[in-house]
Amino acid sequence: MEPFDLALTGGKVFFNDNFVESNVYLRDGKIVSLTCDKLPARKVLEVDGLFVLPGFVDPHVHFSLKLGPHRSTDDFFTGGRAAACGGVTTVGDFTEPCSTEAEAESEIERRIEEASNAYVDYFLHLTIANPSMDPHKVCEIALDHGITSIKLFTTYSSSGRRTDDWYLLQLLKVAREYHVTVMVHAENDEIVEGNVKASLQEGGGHLQVRDLPYVREAITEIEAVSRVASFAQWTGAKVYVAHVSSGITLDRVATAFKDVLNRTLFVESCPHYFWLDQTLFSGDGGYRYAVCPPLRSYGEIERLKGHLKVGNISSIGTDHCPFNLEERQVYKDRYESMPNGLPGVEVSFILMHTLAKQLHMPLERLVPLFSSNPARIMGLNHRKGSISPGKDADLVVFDPEAEWTITQSLLHSANDYTPYEGIKVVGKVVHTVLRGRIIVEEGEPMGEAGFGEYLGRGSSGDA
Ligand SMILES: [Zn+2]
Repeated sequence: MEPFDLALTGGKVFFNDNFVESNVYLRDGKIVSLTCDKLPARKVLEVDGLFVLPGFVDPHVHFSLKLGPHRSTDDFFTGGRAAACGGVTTVGDFTEPCSTEAEAESEIERRIEEASNAYVDYFLHLTIANPSMDPHKVCEIALDHGITSIKLFTTYSSSGRRTDDWYLLQLLKVAREYHVTVMVHAENDEIVEGNVKASLQEGGGHLQVRDLPYVREAITEIEAVSRVASFAQWTGAKVYVAHVSSGITLDRVATAFKDVLNRTLFVESCPHYFWLDQTLFSGDGGYRYAVCPPLRSYGEIERLKGHLKVGNISSIGTDHCPFNLEERQVYKDRYESMPNGLPGVEVSFILMHTLAKQLHMPLERLVPLFSSNPARIMGLNHRKGSISPGKDADLVVFDPEAEWTITQSLLHSANDYTPYEGIKVVGKVVHTVLRGRIIVEEGEPMGEAGFGEYLGRGSSGDA
């Protein structure tokens, strides 16, 4: 028998939402066989007693994101390397917001070019803003480039990024016909803008980070997500609500939109909304945590955990968008000009694994939020998100017992700090395999720039 390229032996393999004891054999970048038999292979990783999980899909990262004069610290190489060290083998990133057809066409090309040093596989969401394009045209341009998800904002009118409700509704009607998923950043723009104005007046022309939970108070999210969910229910289109921050938002969604939740309406949350709370905004180091939507109260976090436990959250994305401390410190007392965002792609699964243990939530229920769910929602499930013959050989070997403390010097992002410094976690990524190639071995990155591929989506996945 022709030897396999790689074998992982002795592990507990996540297969069909359960753990089974099996060896995994790979050839030509694909999973070929799951069996207890010993078969010949050119390289063998002995992973006795460890978990073998599908490579994680993080559908929400911002590598090389331009925000005014700033650019997020990680590019597709350093961000992808950090991702790989956290077990993430596929990331979903975005185009800059586009308003016209010409912009969309050139922006998609530009982003693919910018990602030519990618460390892990990636796909793109087409971001639109205040579009002048016919919604049919938006879907057609996206599909022409292998993109099956369109992102828009219900807020940020002040920077020209808002798309209005009328357009959103028209787009959803059309997106349903084209089998395109619409990803929404949902906050109530009028309330946010009114609050900003009032706080600027009060603050003598400046905002403070500690104002953030009031300026973008939870009702702005609760109301906007409910509105978007109503549109999703009305049209039957597939809608993915990005970065839900407050448990109260999910209280609403889980009751009023139960019929569509996890069928055509999907909810993402991020590790920081579980692990960090709004009191961190007060005090001198508040700028370290600046993120939109903001961190929330303990009560809202507890509710969010409850929703995680019962399966009301469809997917965990990180919204990974780091900025160095030095760059942020400048705006310490001028929050209105600060670039927002947090790193998280490397520690996302580890933080959520630690939390799941605390909540007595079985790992079998957590892993799909990092793999099969985002892969299916994003139309990648023909290749990504599960371990079975014929799928891409994207695997994570995970030690569920290893205890360690998160600290910046152990991480692989280009950013100069982590908001999770000092947090004790359980679980460690030992090896990561992408399309049959070991890109992290014994915790050390071994991959190379440009091995990550652009994943065109379309006909064969269920978008
Ligand atoms: Zn984002």
